[in-house]
Amino acid sequence: MTEARTPDEVKAEVLEVAQELYRKGLVEGTSGNVSGRMPGGETVCITPSSVAYLPMTIDDLVVIDLDGEVVDGERSPSSEKGLHLACYQAFPEVGGVIHSHPVYATMFALAREPVPAVIEEFVVFVGGDVPCAEYATTGTDAVGEELVKHLADRSAALIANHGMCSIGATAERALHTALVVERSAQIVWGARLLGKVHDIPDEVNTNFAGVYRWMRENGM
Ligand code: 13P
Ligand code: ZN
Repeated sequence: MTEARTPDEVKAEVLEVAQELYRKGLVEGTSGNVSGRMPGGETVCITPSSVAYLPMTIDDLVVIDLDGEVVDGERSPSSEKGLHLACYQAFPEVGGVIHSHPVYATMFALAREPVPAVIEEFVVFVGGDVPCAEYATTGTDAVGEELVKHLADRSAALIANHGMCSIGATAERALHTALVVERSAQIVWGARLLGKVHDIPDEVNTNFAGVYRWMRENGM
């Protein structure tokens, strides 16, 4: 269960997760964006548009309401704020959203092919195969509209010809999911070069999907 946090703690987490996203190589340059739901649930702290991650400070973050209006901050919010807001509006249990451009997951997004749940325990964190949402132009509300069609029982979906969206109870959890999916995409890509990739028995993934649902419903 996620403990109640102060606005400053949510902002600090969003900044830390954004910088870790960059350090881990899940984004290049100023691409990608991170957000966290603020206490009370009616506003969201989000990274600014086109600002480098490592020099970024708390003062660069922007607070927006669920309609996308800026309520605090000097910068312009991420151009993908629609994607983030769509996730918060559709799923009250979601407290963190990340849009990233990881290399291997984006290869699957170009092929418009799911990242399959073929590694033990993947489903515990992700819910199942990572589907690819229909193509929508970057920065439009349609990106979020297509994504939320896939995220009711998943913590990640691919954005066709673009990248990934991951969600979680917190921004930190959404980062963990992004890392798990990217690592799996890399392993599956390599394993396919070796030969046939074998499935995990259905009942194992079905049981793990139950664990995923329980964790999501309980804010974990
Ligand atoms: P922002 O810098 O506006 O957050 O956009 C980055 C990005 O990845 C757009 O899809
Ligand atoms: Zn992007």
